[in-house]
Amino acid sequence: MSEYFVNDKPQRKSSREVHTADCKWLLYAESKTSLGEHDSCEGAMKAAENIYPGEVDGCFFCCFPCHRGEPK
Ligand SMILES: [Zn+2]
Repeated sequence: MSEYFVNDKPQRKSSREVHTADCKWLLYAESKTSLGEHDSCEGAMKAAENIYPGEVDGCFFCCFPCHRGEPK
């Protein structure tokens, strides 16, 4: 289990990235919200979707299985 966070500030375009607590990119988030502990990024993404529906994406580095990239 790891604690996950969602960046409150959208980064690239409109996506707010989900990170694990130890991801170095989380250090650059000015404001973040804890998503609690999850077994995998899938659970964290669901929690983030409840806060920011349709605006979240997994971090390329720490949540690669949940990384969707830019919408086309
Ligand atoms: Zn990350």
